[in-house]
Order: sequence, then C-alpha cells, then structure tokens
Amino acid sequence: MYLGAHVSISKGLAAAVQTAVDIGANTMQFFTRNPRGGSAKELDDRDIDKARRLLNIHQFGPLVAHAPYTYNLASAKPEVREFSIRTIKEDLLRIKAMQTPYLVLHVGSHGGQGEEAGLLLVVQGLQEILPTIPEDVNILIEIMAGSGTELGYTFEQIQKIMAACADHPQLGLCLDSSHLTGAGYNLADLSKVKTEIEKTVGLARVKAMHLNDSVFPVGSRRDRHAKIGEGYLGLEIVKALVCDENFRKIPIILETPNDEDGHAAEIALIKGLIRDC
Ligand SMILES: [Zn+2]
Ligand SMILES: [Zn+2]
Repeated sequence: MYLGAHVSISKGLAAAVQTAVDIGANTMQFFTRNPRGGSAKELDDRDIDKARRLLNIHQFGPLVAHAPYTYNLASAKPEVREFSIRTIKEDLLRIKAMQTPYLVLHVGSHGGQGEEAGLLLVVQGLQEILPTIPEDVNILIEIMAGSGTELGYTFEQIQKIMAACADHPQLGLCLDSSHLTGAGYNLADLSKVKTEIEKTVGLARVKAMHLNDSVFPVGSRRDRHAKIGEGYLGLEIVKALVCDENFRKIPIILETPNDEDGHAAEIALIKGLIRDC
C-alpha cells in the first residue's frame, strides 16, 4: 500500500521526498504553492531529477499535490474565479513536471449565492480548465465536510459536477475520512458508504484518500482533523479503511495535526494495523 503524510516543499521537492522517506512513507502530499498565497517558486530541474531518483530508489507510489485554499471556482467574484482557473492550469503543468499525477481540489464555497449557482460556476470553471489539462495528470475533487457555504459535501454533488464535464477521464475523487464524518457519512458502516460512492461517482474514480480522525461527530458539518485514534473514528474504523481492498492501491495521506515525529509514529501504527488485516 501507499502511505504518507502532507509535507512541506519549502526546501524543494527532493528534500520533501527525503522527509517522507525519513518518516517511513512511500507517498506524500504537498501544496502546489503557498496555501494562503498565489505565487509559486520556479521549478528547478536538478531538484526534480534528484527527487525522481529518490522516488525510484524507495519505490514510491503516486504523489499527491493539493491546491491552495485561496482557489474558489464557485466565488461570486469574477476576479477570484479567473485567478483560480489560471493558477489551476499552471499547477497542472507544474505537477506534471514534478512527477505528480494528482491535484486535489476543493469544490469551493458559494458564499451565499446558493448551492446551485455555485455549482454552475464550478462546472464552468472546470469546463475551461479541462480542455487544457496535460496528459498523465488528474484533478481529484475532494469530498468536504460542508461547513458554512462549502460545496462538495455529498457524492451526488460531485457526480453532478463530473457529469456536467462529460465524465472527463481525468477527473477523480479524493476521500477524506474527517470530511466524510462531518458531512454525515458514517464510516462505521463502510460498506454502506462504499455503496453510496458506487451508486454516484463510482469507486473506480477514487484515486486518493486523506486519512484523518475527526474532532467532531458524524453529521456535524464541521471540519477539524484529529490525530489517528484520537477522534470520533477510532482505530477500528481506521483499520477498516486501510485494510479495504478498494483502497489498497491508492495513496493514503495523513493530514493529522502532527510534526514529522508524530506522522512517523502514526505511519508505524498504521503499518501495524495493516499487518493483521
Ligand atoms: Zn483538502
Ligand atoms: Zn483532506
């Protein structure tokens, strides 16, 4: 299986891969650029070559990039939508150069316009982006907890977006166990949640998963990640997720509130759970 954590690429891609290796990971997630800002560092071919060597030596699985929180395709403000579309297009080119097949994207927040109006803008944005998407990279829409005016907290909404984009083959789904819990999907009954995915987006579209425990209970519509085993999920549900056949070949990424040592301990803990699946 491919297990990793969110790491910083402030010191470059190769340094980030080395951090992932040091914590026992064989995949990782990073922000394409400053999560609160817009500018991105220029890519460094030597750094990328060094990273590629490390990824090969340590037999990494697919890497995951996460779009900054400043992007919002559902915004009522045209300048925010234009900025989001332009930078997503740039990010897709960047991650392709960075050996990374997946860009995780939040659907966005409608900010009071209403869900339907917001979803329409998201579709329009994606329809502008997808014709330019490079080969070998994919946009993964992340399921959200649905706090505030956040969109994308049901599989039905995500399916609608994909359908309006002609089920583009480079669109996928990123699960997040904390967001699912907030959104009202009870992972204690994993087979029921999987059936709901299969009936809508389809399990084959699940390309990555964020593994986080949840500070808030099922259906809270709130999003706060807890350390593994320290929230409403608990170790039994975490084990069911990492042992599930459908998720054995996708990158599983920890976004838990931890430093590197904390992530290393969680990775060791999860490897232990997997040993007796
Ligand atoms: Zn996210
Ligand atoms: Zn997440």
